[in-house]
Amino acid sequence: MSVRIGITGAAGRMGRMLAEVISEAERPCSLVVAIERAESSLLGADVGELLGDGASGVTITSDLASVASDIDVLIDFTVPEATLHHAALCAEHGLPLVIGTTGFSDAQIAQLRETTLDLPVCQASNFSPGVNLTFDLVKAAAEALGDSADIEIVEAHHRHKIDAPSGTALSLGEVIANALGRDLSQVAVYGREGRTGERTRETIGFSTIRAGDIVGDHTVVFAGEGERLEITHRASSRSAFAHGAVRAACWLTHQKAGRYSMQDVLRQEKNPL
Ligand code: NAD
Repeated sequence: MSVRIGITGAAGRMGRMLAEVISEAERPCSLVVAIERAESSLLGADVGELLGDGASGVTITSDLASVASDIDVLIDFTVPEATLHHAALCAEHGLPLVIGTTGFSDAQIAQLRETTLDLPVCQASNFSPGVNLTFDLVKAAAEALGDSADIEIVEAHHRHKIDAPSGTALSLGEVIANALGRDLSQVAVYGREGRTGERTRETIGFSTIRAGDIVGDHTVVFAGEGERLEITHRASSRSAFAHGAVRAACWLTHQKAGRYSMQDVLRQEKNPL
């Protein structure tokens, strides 16, 4: 049976890519609902025409509540405040939710968890299979090198990105901190300026580049005496995130209530890349 998908943030960079990927998807799924904010000038527009593909019959609306019963799963790539609103509507309708939005505060994360306790939820700072493999590679490197290396995370994204460091950089930091028994909130250093003093070994540094149309680059540097190891992932198209999110959405419709990551999706399917 075809999975009926709804997307929020339909006119955004990821929303448009999701609509394109769903229309071309090999798995049985279809785009049924496309939601934008109430002030959007694109309300009423046909999603297919927006993509230059001709009419699709799916028009952009702002009222998720009135169409929630038409879909099997919602994919949200918007902003944290909107995600919280959409999560509450999903909870009301028992609708599985895929969350790609990043930049939540600790309080918003707690609220999101409480709101969605009874739902299947797949949340990932990055839905690309390559980045999820990078999490495993970085964990292995951190465990092998232990406290013998200084660890720094460098990320680069397009000029329109509104949160920093990226959710993916923070997830990489969490993976490393967990592998080394460190508390990221205690050891993270977000940028340096002025007379900083020498670096201490346990710190994990984050550097951010915002420029042009960079889709998303992440490098983790493990630097010791006389050598350094760098693990880099570069996304060249948002399609990697969109394909991953659609894959997660189809998978999620068969899951019980609970919190899932993209790694859960990939581990339970056969072909990780
Ligand atoms: P974008 O600004 O291009 O798109 C966001 C869209 O959400 C906009 O069209 C905006 O109008 C819409 N929106 C805002 N409030 C809304 C509301 N209340 N209801 C419906 N729509 C609303 O941003 P983007 O580049 O598409 O990224 C969106 C989010 O996804 C960001 O947080 C980004 O960091 C994250 N992201 C995650 C991944 C991942 O793999 N997890 C990948 C890329 C981007």
